[in-house]
Amino acid sequence: MRDLCPQRGITGIQAHYAYNKKEEMQKTIMAVAAAALMWAAASCGGGSDESGSAQTAPAAAPQPQVVIDPGKAPEANAKVHSLPTHIVPGRLRDIFTDSNYLQLRAAKANGFDPIVDLRSAYNLKRPIVKIHNCDAYALDPMQHSLPYLVPKAAELLHTIGKAFSDTIKARGGKAYRIRVTSLTRTDYSVSKLLKRNRNATSQSCHRYGTTFDISWIKFDCLDPSFVVSLEDLKNILAEVVYDQRQKGKCYVMFETKQGCFHITAR
Ligand SMILES: [Zn+2]
Repeated sequence: MRDLCPQRGITGIQAHYAYNKKEEMQKTIMAVAAAALMWAAASCGGGSDESGSAQTAPAAAPQPQVVIDPGKAPEANAKVHSLPTHIVPGRLRDIFTDSNYLQLRAAKANGFDPIVDLRSAYNLKRPIVKIHNCDAYALDPMQHSLPYLVPKAAELLHTIGKAFSDTIKARGGKAYRIRVTSLTRTDYSVSKLLKRNRNATSQSCHRYGTTFDISWIKFDCLDPSFVVSLEDLKNILAEVVYDQRQKGKCYVMFETKQGCFHITAR
């Protein structure tokens, strides 16, 4: 079993129950857990996004927000700090333009076969890793996703999350985490979505365990005594993602409509 965030110490069935209370999702999750145990290689992973991943035209800008730990609200007039950022010049949507075609090819090469129903969850051909909140990232509630990724993608997510937190601190900030908004989607858990748009879903990289979304409009501020501007947080995250992309670790699309970086491990 692999655990990229050992301080949590949650693995297996317990974590599955903790993740989602919906009975339907529990069944799917348990099936995946069983499959994972059968393959004796599991521990973390997954989620999903609600739409296709093709670049969308400029849409209504998502509303930025900083998610604060409950009970740690910043003071009313808390100063918003600025940190140095070094992202390469240019608009982010012109920088991160790796197409769905490219990402889908990497997803099929590196991921497991899409989970279309309960039966197929028992037949995963690759090890999976369970993804849960840790110092490097926090998971948004995901109704149509499973918290699993293949190991390569799980490592990439952890690397990006840790690099982001470390960079914030290195530049004078305090504790921040990225937020993961989508992981691995199954046809089973999004059957309603399938009925609505079967083609879009069938082309989603999120079905292969290789792909995740990181928000650029929501960040976790773990120390409200030092709030950083959303623009700087976004640009520092972009730097970190850019670095991994330059190293050939991933393909990236800057999603304007969903307010996220759509990332596929390669
Ligand atoms: Zn996505």
